[in-house]
Amino acid sequence: MKKILITGGAGFIGSHVVRRFVNNYADTQIYNLDALTYAGNLENIKDIENKPNYTFIKGDITDAAFIDGIFEEYKFEGVLHLAAESHVDRSIKDPLAFVKTNVIGTMNLLNSAKKIWSGKYEGKRFYHISTDEVYGTLGAEGLFTEETPYDPNSPYSASKAASDHFVRAYGETYGLPYVLTNCSNNYGPYHFPEKLIPLFINNIINNKPLPVYGDGKYTRDWLFVEDHAVAIDLVFHKGKNHDTYNIGGFNEWQNIDLVKLLCSIMDKKLGRAEGTSEQLITYVKDRPGHDLRYAIDATKINKELGWKPSVTFEEGLERTIDWFLNNQEWLDNVTTGEYQKYYNNQYSES
Ligand code: NAD
Repeated sequence: MKKILITGGAGFIGSHVVRRFVNNYADTQIYNLDALTYAGNLENIKDIENKPNYTFIKGDITDAAFIDGIFEEYKFEGVLHLAAESHVDRSIKDPLAFVKTNVIGTMNLLNSAKKIWSGKYEGKRFYHISTDEVYGTLGAEGLFTEETPYDPNSPYSASKAASDHFVRAYGETYGLPYVLTNCSNNYGPYHFPEKLIPLFINNIINNKPLPVYGDGKYTRDWLFVEDHAVAIDLVFHKGKNHDTYNIGGFNEWQNIDLVKLLCSIMDKKLGRAEGTSEQLITYVKDRPGHDLRYAIDATKINKELGWKPSVTFEEGLERTIDWFLNNQEWLDNVTTGEYQKYYNNQYSES
């Protein structure tokens, strides 16, 4: 049986990827390696935990000996690497944690893969999942392509950029077979409520202020997480070796317009008068180094692999909001304890 390692599979995107692979590839044993940090939650993949082709491994990618050990034991043929510290605001407070997990952790996986595959690369693949934030910021015009030079501005994006460079360097220097993707902002079920869309859904439910950074003009491209998982599946199986693909939703929104749209849908869902939730909008002090605009040109993956988003933004938001409203227990469980401390600390300074 083929053996594939997926890292970070208890997190937001990883859980969708693990679910898709376990359900679609019964002839492949899927090993989900996750340290279960504040962002990792086994509840996210409860529905597949008893499937015969699924194994959970609790462990930390910063522990080189441990990573070597599991590669020795299981001899993975493929790796999909998603484990990361992923929140920009947290990276501003503790950059080193991002270097440890995102850079050193990625290096440990590369080293173990290189060692165990020892030049016999037929049928092997190291897939590194990354972000469009490595490209820095755009002005009002233009799109990020695969040729856009890296220009990261936050400790998070700098750590992801460094890890991308190491993946390519291992490809060039040691011939390690890799593929790499840079994707725009994801949203959907199981999204941890420190990120904009789930944070605001949760705050609207609880009648709490909606903290909008700066003037609210920051612009992001949004992609439904299941469409990202489809793209990841495609790139892993059909992507060209030693190549990079941008993934995006062709779906740009200024933060303030997105927040108003969310408020309006939530008013309807909660049976509140139109305009009720908008009153919760509160402008807060800007994030330092905040990138003005991200927008992805996903033409290459469309032309070469035939991928395009299948879920419209309206449908995706509707599904996401319904999921959060129907999974209040999940939301309550992840927003107690440590989360409360983080939240109070984050927004009390604004
Ligand atoms: P997430 O924060 O929801 O999940 C990260 C997972 O990694 C968690 O389950 C956590 O427990 C695990 N993890 C963290 N440190 C670890 C360590 N040292 N060892 C083992 N496991 C560890 O992140 P996400 O939003 O699902 O993002 C997944 C990947 O996709 C990341 O690499 C991120 O950079 C990338 N990405 C995210 C987005 C987005 O919009 N969320 C967009 C593009 C790319």
